[in-house]
Amino acid sequence: MSTTVSGKSGTWRNWAGNVTAHPVREVAPASVEELSAAVRKAAEDGLRVKAVGTGHSFTSTAATDGVLIRPQLLTGIRRIDREAGTVTVEAGTPLKRLNVALAREGLSLTNMGDIMEQTVSGATSTGTHGTGRDSASIAAQVRGLELVTADGSVLTCSEKENVDVFAAARVGLGALGIITAITFAVEPLFLLTAREEPMPLDRVLAEFDELWTENEHFEFYWFPHTGSTNTKRNNRSAGPPKPVGQLSGWFEDEFLSNGVFQVANWVGRAVPAAVPTIAGVSSRALSARTYTDIAYRVFTSPRRVRFVEMEYAVPREALTETLRELKAMVDRSTLRVSFPVEVRTAPADDITLSTASGRDSAYIAVHMFRGTSYQAYFTAAERIFTAHGGRPHWGKVHTRDADYFAEAYPRFGEFTALRDRLDPDRRFGNDYLRRTLGA
Ligand SMILES: Cc1cc2nc3c(=O)[nH]c(=O)nc-3n(C[C@H](O)[C@H](O)[C@H](O)COP(=O)(O)OP(=O)(O)OC[C@H]3O[C@@H](n4cnc5c(N)ncnc54)[C@H](O)[C@@H]3O)c2cc1C
Repeated sequence: MSTTVSGKSGTWRNWAGNVTAHPVREVAPASVEELSAAVRKAAEDGLRVKAVGTGHSFTSTAATDGVLIRPQLLTGIRRIDREAGTVTVEAGTPLKRLNVALAREGLSLTNMGDIMEQTVSGATSTGTHGTGRDSASIAAQVRGLELVTADGSVLTCSEKENVDVFAAARVGLGALGIITAITFAVEPLFLLTAREEPMPLDRVLAEFDELWTENEHFEFYWFPHTGSTNTKRNNRSAGPPKPVGQLSGWFEDEFLSNGVFQVANWVGRAVPAAVPTIAGVSSRALSARTYTDIAYRVFTSPRRVRFVEMEYAVPREALTETLRELKAMVDRSTLRVSFPVEVRTAPADDITLSTASGRDSAYIAVHMFRGTSYQAYFTAAERIFTAHGGRPHWGKVHTRDADYFAEAYPRFGEFTALRDRLDPDRRFGNDYLRRTLGA
């Protein structure tokens, strides 16, 4: 999977290709000192600064017209503390590299999102999450952060040190400083057994509470224009490992991530009227499978078909009603949606602007194939999500502003006050932060 590109013209582009930026210059610091110097130099030149990860956000959260800080020379594990059960990594380390290195040491993170291409800092900064009954987002697994702040100085925070910064900076939106290292909680490497099984949507909604209660990680994909879903249940296992076979890895590994699904989307884009038929055939083609593997290989899979995505967290008890309304909206409309809707959960956490801050949450994600007009679908979906008090993923398409967030997050003012203290001149500002956090 390629990351962001920067052509000769100096244009930066995100993974989905829906955001571009034209930074004045790019810097790839190789040490915390070089990064501090880059921030100080930007201040002298009157430029804004923004660190990017791998550009996997669908919003303009990482875009800058000032100095773009690249992550590739700030990678690798700094230290593993087995007694404390932690690992400290450089900020630009891709999650993939962290997972592989931890597995080699017999260690693992507790929960992951769908992919592992992102950097540890990019993933935490926007609140990247997977699905979990008891275990939460990647940011919720953070035990400490090291940041370069707007004056170029280094600040560390944890549950014991600079606790106000720690509360906010785990999902910091790049607004409070540039992260240089993250300490994560780790645990002994474990196996997960995944059970993937097609199930009618009506049954999933009727039995959602049981499916959620009985499984450590429950999620499902609903296929618009059909009453079908594919469910996935991941639970810890004593083994033995039984990885996905070459032929059986169809849904995640072939359908969602490459060839067949890519072709289906090309056809759907050329002939929108064919989309409901394709969705019906696709959903019926899925069959059940069970496999057991080390955790990160079960949580994640490649996503090679490019798309644009919106995702909202609603209170978990509002999930079934919200999804019924979404289905009714699609059924009533002339929309043609070739991508499944993904549904996941997370327990409440204590991070100021985490989408699960202070409440048990369910996530509903809508996608459209890249190059297909997504505005009408996303606008209609967003109306439903916001009516249920939804909080948008900070890295996925949304149209909300600071007034909305001040209502949606009881601790919003805590975050903006901290930002005023740490970055009064908005050295780390950009247009996205102006919209979402206010001036
Ligand atoms: C195919 C695909 C699958 C995805 N799957 C999931 C999923 O399962 N769950 C989920 O929740 N999200 C998912 N996402 C969204 C993605 O995880 C987030 O958008 C994430 O923020 C991207 O990380 P990145 O490294 O690409 O960061 P970028 O998108 O480059 O940056 C994100 C933010 O982090 C900031 N940032 C980056 N580095 C630093 C730093 N060193 N210090 C301070 N701020 C920094 C940037 O300024 C920006 O504000 C997916 C996205 C794609 C394209």
